[in-house]
Amino acid sequence: MLNKVRLLTPGPTPLPERVRLALARDMIHHRKSEFKAVMRRVQEQLRVLFGTEGPVLPLSCSGTGAMTAAAHSLFAPGEKVLVVEGGKFGQRWRGIAEQRGLTVVSIEVPWGQAVAPEDVRRALDADPSIKGVLVQLSETSTGVLHPVEALAALTRSRDVLLVVDGISGVSLSPCPMDAWGIDCLLTGSQKGLMLPPGLALLALSPRAWTRAENTPSGCFYFNLPKERANLEKGQTLFTSPVGLIVGLQESLSILLENGLDAVYRKQWALTMMTRTSATALGLELFAPKNFAWGITSVLLPAGVDGVEVVRLAAERHGVYMAGGQDHLKGRIVRIGHMGWVDWADVMAGLHALAASIQEAGGHIGSRDYLEQGLAAYHAALAVAPGAPLPLTHA
Ligand SMILES: *Cc1c(COP(=O)(O)O)cnc(C)c1O
Repeated sequence: MLNKVRLLTPGPTPLPERVRLALARDMIHHRKSEFKAVMRRVQEQLRVLFGTEGPVLPLSCSGTGAMTAAAHSLFAPGEKVLVVEGGKFGQRWRGIAEQRGLTVVSIEVPWGQAVAPEDVRRALDADPSIKGVLVQLSETSTGVLHPVEALAALTRSRDVLLVVDGISGVSLSPCPMDAWGIDCLLTGSQKGLMLPPGLALLALSPRAWTRAENTPSGCFYFNLPKERANLEKGQTLFTSPVGLIVGLQESLSILLENGLDAVYRKQWALTMMTRTSATALGLELFAPKNFAWGITSVLLPAGVDGVEVVRLAAERHGVYMAGGQDHLKGRIVRIGHMGWVDWADVMAGLHALAASIQEAGGHIGSRDYLEQGLAAYHAALAVAPGAPLPLTHA
């Protein structure tokens, strides 16, 4: 009872009151006109969010389901794809592609770094039989932002599809699908979209649609051409996740009411706040250069157990953060600042982190880490509206 529970996790994330109230509405039927009107409105909103002219399909599954749908719809067994493997979610692409029977070539990127577009160019030049590049926009396990725009510039001019897992990136940092030339962009409901888990969204480019139409899906549940035909009637192939779509209409209204630029600026400012404050605490940033805008990963001081820090932050302060995975278990803490999270939540998170590190036996740097973080937040927000946002990868 002492503390509010604050989810600074990379999904699920807190829900705004407006979304919770939308989720509480009476059930409506997924084949009737009232629902079709919601679907049409949501389509208009999603086209803005994804930056695409084409349909954005709602799929009733978690984000991994949309990754699976993409791999099964765009590539046939035996075809070759290039996977960017710089963390847990890059590894997941490999697993999904292998399960589909694809031949996987991977570029292994040291965890904490982004893929170098030059390496992808070299791999594509060396092997013209590669049919697709599978990558994350934001690699949530490390807090890295991959240079998707530069990758799209490579795939656009080749017969290679760029498939982007934007689950922890869409609605958090810019990723205009058509303008960049992405062939498949997908995301999930429980991160930047401020919804419960269980809904995924996926869009294809015209050439990816051609591929999907000519590739037998090999999967009864995910059939993207059939989903598209249903969407034209304001429906989904199977029973729609009605509540989540009604909630999505509300969350997209919140995201779009001041324009996406305002959303990205807020995310940038929260990222600057977290990074500045963590640095003031004496912590090393795990993704030094190409960092995501929805999650910040920090290395713990030697001798401080990250599992203990995460546990103490939750138990003593009500702040839920994420630890590291695999070889990073116990070594890093990942602070989510995505969706319905503001400066005050991030302050709570930074304080919980500092106090928990001390309780776990570590030392912290400057006492004024919160002031430094807030100053960075305000400085980042003060960048004139309309002025270009700083690029994470130059
Ligand atoms: C969270 C996440 C996923 C997994 O999504 P699920 O909804 O758990 O299936 C995949 N990729 C990235 C980049 C993520 O952040």
